[in-house]
Amino acid sequence: MSSAIPVLEDLYPVTMDMWPVQAKEFNRVHPFYENLKAGKLTTTRCKACDAVSYPPRVICPECYSEDLEYIELPEKGKVVVFSETLKGVPLGFSAPLIHATIDLGKDSPVRRLLIRVVNCPAGQLKEGDELRLVVFEVPSHPIEKGKKGTIQSERVFFAFEPVAR
Ligand SMILES: [Zn+2]
Repeated sequence: MSSAIPVLEDLYPVTMDMWPVQAKEFNRVHPFYENLKAGKLTTTRCKACDAVSYPPRVICPECYSEDLEYIELPEKGKVVVFSETLKGVPLGFSAPLIHATIDLGKDSPVRRLLIRVVNCPAGQLKEGDELRLVVFEVPSHPIEKGKKGTIQSERVFFAFEPVAR
């Protein structure tokens, strides 16, 4: 499902790493990934002006406040429009590579998301299909920790998959 460039023996091919560095030492939206590890898709809401942004931010794009909080997004959405790539998918992905814009419903703080669809054979997806969040592990990321040596930072990423009918 999520094949990727593995960490080679004692070598880390950084330019071939297709996944974001998620550890708090390197990423200011690390709570997004910590929430993902707990199975929750989240984004940021500004406490000063209530603006909700996706993807999550560290500064509100509306009022420039840094006083943001993480809020949960729905785990299910319906396909609005989608594309399937069958040939020539990018390195690290396998065909079919499916992307969809999904509608999270009128009560969601973010109405629409562009997401990847996994666990779905080519030619099966239809507009209106219900999808649900799926969180999966991706290769860990080595971090130098001084005297402690190198540790591996566990990583996850997310996509959506069809809800079984
Ligand atoms: Zn704001």
